Amino acid sequence: MHKFKEDLEKVLESRKKVRDVIDIDGEVIEDLPIKRNDRFRGQVTIMYGCNNFCSYCIVPYVRGRERSRKPEKILEEIRDLANKGYKEITLLGQNVNSYDGGNGYKFSNLLRDACKIDGIEKIRFVSPHPKDFSDDVIDAICENEKISRIIHLPLQAGNSRVLKVMNRKYSKEQYLELVEKIKSKIPDVVFSTDIIVGFPGETDEEFEDTLDVVRKVNFEQIFMFIYSRRVGTPADKMENQVPEEVKHKRFDKLKELYDNSVSENNKKYVGTVQKILVDGKSKNNDSVLTGRTDTNKVVNFEGDDELIGQIIDVFIDSEHRWYLKGKILNSNQKNVVDLK
Ligand code: SF4
Repeated sequence: MHKFKEDLEKVLESRKKVRDVIDIDGEVIEDLPIKRNDRFRGQVTIMYGCNNFCSYCIVPYVRGRERSRKPEKILEEIRDLANKGYKEITLLGQNVNSYDGGNGYKFSNLLRDACKIDGIEKIRFVSPHPKDFSDDVIDAICENEKISRIIHLPLQAGNSRVLKVMNRKYSKEQYLELVEKIKSKIPDVVFSTDIIVGFPGETDEEFEDTLDVVRKVNFEQIFMFIYSRRVGTPADKMENQVPEEVKHKRFDKLKELYDNSVSENNKKYVGTVQKILVDGKSKNNDSVLTGRTDTNKVVNFEGDDELIGQIIDVFIDSEHRWYLKGKILNSNQKNVVDLK
């Protein structure tokens, strides 16, 4: 992108094909224009690349080593978003909690500084790596109400041997200990995760460990993937690939467990008041507004268009598996039990 103008001019001048190969480990390019599709939720990249080399993943080979943007550039972008009316930002990186802004400035510093920006009401981040989730980051979340109480914590697999072959650098026990530590410091926290089913060599018993972690953590949201080979990765060269039908059976089992937990988890919202960032009108019904809770649940309710882009209190009166339904509270109804 940043070389496009220059290269186009070269082509126009020489009337010849131009090849320009960039170094994937190269510098961080700043000040490129960003096209944003959302009016109130903005994504802000804080770092590029990855150093982790999980054995199934192609990212480190195609995006190069980790390099972080300068904190002042990131904060400038967030301030600009706040000035344009954005209410929520998501800090993006392959491994956000190894962010290194230089001179000891870490991800926890960035979180704290981002929270100080007026106008931004909600801060999310994806993805942290469990092995790098420091106490300082937990403290930063704990101190700042603006930081979302749903934490995305990629599990990938629940069995320690499989995790080792995946090169994830944590065991089942360490993952569960981290979850417990976060829960003990941030009582209202919930988790979302990524899980890969059918990694090479995964046995039925080992897959049971994944189900065990799912039961224990009770994830609010699970992004489930059937393992698929990526040419150029160590896992692609492993000979003990799991047959497709076995992978699909395990996927269905995981999905069933997750589906059953969704309505149970939804029930705890019914009868509570949630702060909702109103995104716009519902796709299926023009007279209904839609937004999301802090924990990313879709909530539909009736209301005026002028509420779009605002954060409002909504009383949740029913749950419908993939969304919740609610009613806007009048100011004199604010004494309804607020669990969040
Ligand atoms: S899965 Fe994530 S942490 Fe692992 S190598 Fe890929 S991008 Fe890096």
